[in-house]
Amino acid sequence: MNIEIGTGIYLFQGSSLVVTDETPDTAIADGTPPEIIHQTFKDIGIFEMPAVDAPGTIRGASLGKDAPVPVGWRAVPVRQGLSLLTAGTTVDGTGPIGRMLRAYHIAQWRQDSLFCGSCGTKNTDAPDELARLCPACGRREYPRISPAVITIIINDDDGSALLAHNKKFADGVYSLIAGFNEAGESLEATVAREIREEVGLEVRDIKYIASQPWPFPNSLMLGFTARYASGEIHPDGIEIEDARWFTRDTLPKLPGNGSVSRYLINGWLEGSL
Ligand SMILES: [Zn+2]
Repeated sequence: MNIEIGTGIYLFQGSSLVVTDETPDTAIADGTPPEIIHQTFKDIGIFEMPAVDAPGTIRGASLGKDAPVPVGWRAVPVRQGLSLLTAGTTVDGTGPIGRMLRAYHIAQWRQDSLFCGSCGTKNTDAPDELARLCPACGRREYPRISPAVITIIINDDDGSALLAHNKKFADGVYSLIAGFNEAGESLEATVAREIREEVGLEVRDIKYIASQPWPFPNSLMLGFTARYASGEIHPDGIEIEDARWFTRDTLPKLPGNGSVSRYLINGWLEGSL
């Protein structure tokens, strides 16, 4: 294919990256040298994809979910790679972490597209592009990307922001209102609907700020700001257990660095949103 962008191969098992014990935590996003992969996993299939941040190829491989992790190797949750990001940065698809996440997204998609969705024949890799190809009916399947919005709601009366505790969050962590785009819906409509459904508020001036590939399993997170327009906070009690207006002086526990939610919250804290 193209010139190599990095020599490492990303080896996945389930939601983990498998690396040698010698690989320091700070280097897991570089993958593992091919000769080491081939020494240990003799017949493993390698898949390739073009990088998106520079000309070149990214390589990955998957271990079966029941395959033992050999002595001298360890499985590190892919999400842990995000902790390598420094404060104030976010996943933007570039660099070793961006490439690791792209390989992870593609690894999962390959596992989920073993068979043609139309006729059930075993898929192959298309020779000319990153797609799965059915040899029987010719159907092509591309990596699925699910857009989701995440929004910081700012109250211009006092500069506060709405942060909410979702049942899925760690204890005491408050973050932003998020949800998936529905078929046939604009992203702005998704923002307004999710806010209405989850906390019962109406917003105005919905503005796009930044996006982030989030392959857990296949999202593209689209970060927005919105201004509070009307309504009283009513947490839906299903996803959102509690939601409140916070000022910069009364902050709860916040989501970790590397997420677009934290990026938006930091933007609000710095007064740039
Ligand atoms: Zn088919």
